[in-house]
Amino acid sequence: MMRIVLLGAPGSGKGTQAQRLQAKFNVPQISSGDLLRDAVARKTALGLKAKAAMEAGQLVSDDIVLGLIRERLSQADAQNGFILDGFPRNSDQAATLSKLLVDIGQPLEAVLLMDVRTRTLIERMAGRRICKHCGKVFSVSALPSDMSCKSNSNGHELYQRVDDKEDVIAKRLDVYKSQTKPLIDHYSKLGLLKVIKGEGTLELITARMEAALAKSGSKTEKVKRKAARKTASNNSSVKPAAKKASRKKVAAKRKAAPVKKPAVVKKKKVVARKPARKTVKKSAARKPARKK
Ligand SMILES: [Zn+2]
Repeated sequence: MMRIVLLGAPGSGKGTQAQRLQAKFNVPQISSGDLLRDAVARKTALGLKAKAAMEAGQLVSDDIVLGLIRERLSQADAQNGFILDGFPRNSDQAATLSKLLVDIGQPLEAVLLMDVRTRTLIERMAGRRICKHCGKVFSVSALPSDMSCKSNSNGHELYQRVDDKEDVIAKRLDVYKSQTKPLIDHYSKLGLLKVIKGEGTLELITARMEAALAKSGSKTEKVKRKAARKTASNNSSVKPAAKKASRKKVAAKRKAAPVKKPAVVKKKKVVARKPARKTVKKSAARKPARKK
């Protein structure tokens, strides 16, 4: 189950990671901006309200956005979870969102914050070029040689968004920080916040997110895990006792009939092999994860 809110500065790679998680876990990425645009385009009741507010130069009210989120989460593809992006933007919205999610039986599991250094954010955004036709995003560090997108045979022209110029970026980041700080504090107090180091390869960052989510999980799951651990330790405490008993039997047999020595040797070998196999498996499993 993946019910998360994604937080991250512009350029933090939040959108890319959301897409990766969406594909991997088959849960929808729900952006408040997309919901609004979609509702306005489909002229739903909430969409018409939102349109009226925007045309009057007003902000779309939280009620409307929350209504859209409620509608969206009732759809079949959101029953395994969701990735919320762009909402909430402040702690009031966070509180009403939490209420709504509890109300519909889909409480928030975690809030992932993409943590990327300001210097890196500026580098990334200032180096971003976008295709005029298909909207595909390129990085200056990995630009096609003829500066065109290859989505069709003619090649598409690339441009730099006005708000991806360095002076504008710095301002955007300041705004983001001051807006997001209270939200981060809010979720931190609730114990929902997971800070994800957002630098490194895409695969590595996704792995960090998954690890953070695996650590969270619901309380009931934690209780279940604890119970499982107890039974496991109970079992393992039974095993040595059983081993001792069998060793005693073997020792007794040895005394009674020293001829059976080969059988005892075999058993010892098996016992010695087991831990050796385990360490091999562990290191083998770790290596590819590190490479990624
Ligand atoms: Zn293109």
